[in-house]
Amino acid sequence: MRPVNGKVCSVCGEIVLSSYADLEPDGQRRCPVCRRIERPFSRAVAYGSYDGGLRELIHLLKYNGVRPAANVLGRMLAEAIAALESSFPRQLAFTPEPIALIPVPLFKARHRQREFNQAELIARAALKCQPLQGRLYLAQDLLRRTRDTHSQIGLTSHQRRENMRGAFAVPRPAEITGREGLLVDDVYTTGTTVTECAKILRRAGASRVWVATVARTLKLASNQGTFQGFNVAEFQGASTEQPENSETLQPEKP
Ligand SMILES: [Zn+2]
Repeated sequence: MRPVNGKVCSVCGEIVLSSYADLEPDGQRRCPVCRRIERPFSRAVAYGSYDGGLRELIHLLKYNGVRPAANVLGRMLAEAIAALESSFPRQLAFTPEPIALIPVPLFKARHRQREFNQAELIARAALKCQPLQGRLYLAQDLLRRTRDTHSQIGLTSHQRRENMRGAFAVPRPAEITGREGLLVDDVYTTGTTVTECAKILRRAGASRVWVATVARTLKLASNQGTFQGFNVAEFQGASTEQPENSETLQPEKP
């Protein structure tokens, strides 16, 4: 398991080059993309890098249906969420009322076929972990996937956004209006999926949306050959096999 180490963007969690490593006046560190655009989520965190053992563990759950893997992944997610909370200044910390934990939904045909939603299993397992008990509740069905989406492989960032547009809905906005939500998924790849989900939740009235995933692909690594000991050969090998609803490893073109 490789935790994300090195300097990362305070907003999206991407590793930043040293030229972007300085903190901005508000005390945040932002990658080039987050300096240019405003994300619909306040912050995205991940437990570790999407490779090696962590990637295998996620695949065990997702494609081999080894459900107990969700318990381990849930503990990691709980750690990521705890880090998310503790890294914020006091006034920005979570409100005292419980926060909606919202797993990124699957389209119902996909859900039936797989028999479970990995994001939901991981979220359920995380809720059982000590630091999160009573602070979050599972908001199942708050967010719905209203249509299936094509694979994101090889799409430009514009095409990915088009692909996701209208794929999610909040059937009962009153449940999130004026409240904070924490989106949960197994992997953050390009962020297109969680960005679209966060946008829909904000439109439904959510005051703030956070994102926590178990793993994250670190795109800078693939652009630069090696970056802080990152094994790029393995990383690139990993990228040839794409989960069906995963996103491409193409560098972000904002
Ligand atoms: Zn960023």
